[in-house]
Amino acid sequence: MAKHKKLEDYRDQIEQCVKCGACQAHCPVFGEHKRESIVARGKVALAHALLNDEVKLDERLVEDMSKCLLCASCFDKCPNLVPTDEIVAAARREITEKQGLSSFGKVLTTVLKHPRLMNGLAKSGKAFSSLLFKKVPEQSGLRLRFPAPFVSRERSIPEIAAQPFRESHPEVIPGAEGKPTVSFFTGCMINYMYPEIGEALLKILKFMGVTVIIPQDQGCCGLPAISAGDGATVEELSRRNLAALSRHRVDAVLTACATCNEGIGRHFRHLEGDYATLAEKVVDMNVFLVRQGLDRLLAELPRKEVFQRVTYHDPCHLRTQGITKEPRALLKALPGVRFIEMEGADRCCGLGGTFSVYHYDTSKLIGARKAPGIEQSGADLVATACPGCMMQLQDTINHAGLKPRVIHLLELIARDLPA
Ligand code: SF4
Ligand code: SF4
Repeated sequence: MAKHKKLEDYRDQIEQCVKCGACQAHCPVFGEHKRESIVARGKVALAHALLNDEVKLDERLVEDMSKCLLCASCFDKCPNLVPTDEIVAAARREITEKQGLSSFGKVLTTVLKHPRLMNGLAKSGKAFSSLLFKKVPEQSGLRLRFPAPFVSRERSIPEIAAQPFRESHPEVIPGAEGKPTVSFFTGCMINYMYPEIGEALLKILKFMGVTVIIPQDQGCCGLPAISAGDGATVEELSRRNLAALSRHRVDAVLTACATCNEGIGRHFRHLEGDYATLAEKVVDMNVFLVRQGLDRLLAELPRKEVFQRVTYHDPCHLRTQGITKEPRALLKALPGVRFIEMEGADRCCGLGGTFSVYHYDTSKLIGARKAPGIEQSGADLVATACPGCMMQLQDTINHAGLKPRVIHLLELIARDLPA
């Protein structure tokens, strides 16, 4: 049975914060609000006070704990490796246990727990798409026509897929003898909004002779529920995914979404028994493809005369695991791509799951800091490896009136492979 750590379980790590302030320069939210209670040091101090019953669980404290992207940029730079993102998530669970879920949290986790409901909503959303959404003129994405709860009418959102990705494929797609067998954990955004990313991965894996299993009964990775502070839903989703992903013997469980990698990779590592064993098999697709030598195979393809200038955004959930070289190695090897590094590639895009729903204005400000780097790079395309970052970056680009389009790097690889 999945068991989350309680805030009390983090007491030792909380007490390892030496108040040095090294986290300050790296916290995107502090960068906008400059309030001590918002930076990692302040949040850790609040969590400590909460543990010792020194503060009341009032509106201000709940608000401060909600102002965290769970991006782990602070953890990455902390000399004592204080896991502020995990501490904030544990504090949010504690708050939910005492106060219940917010109205958005209730809606979100009800949908996440019921895949049939999610399928039905996606299909209705697609059927009424032209009524509900309008195309952003000359840009990529849709915006809501009418005010609606939880989603800003200013936000650009991708189109809903005509058919969920998993419904369009058999559960087992055989590859070549002697090649690896992998499970593909699609996550919700690829399944319902960006099926083209899944199609691109299948084309690449077919090229490499890999056998692919797409477990039909997999669910959400759980990160949105972690972000909302709903421990019960996280446990339910963890159990479902463990069962779905354990039905087949595979060499690796691939993710093409940085957030899902964090959800079923890092999160599962904190749980015991079969979860931790499965977590060992979870591999980001950049890492898997480079381990399989795809960058070398791509470099041998004939160079194209017409190429596109492409820059890359590091998703926080990959960057903080040290996965930065592999996506660049793949992009640089592509015959139709000229890779350009942009200023601030490692800067958070500002999405942060439920953060961008509760604090869209701040999320937009954090996103806007990426715009100068994108513009100065002169790139035609901004590639990344996380559908959530794609949505947020396209929103930023649309607000800044820039030209580049956002694309998943798997789509670029699939495009340059022989048919
Ligand atoms: S960098 Fe780490 S130890 Fe230093 S104040 Fe921030 S959380 Fe505390
Ligand atoms: S996880 Fe990110 S947003 Fe939260 S305190 Fe750390 S740096 Fe700031």
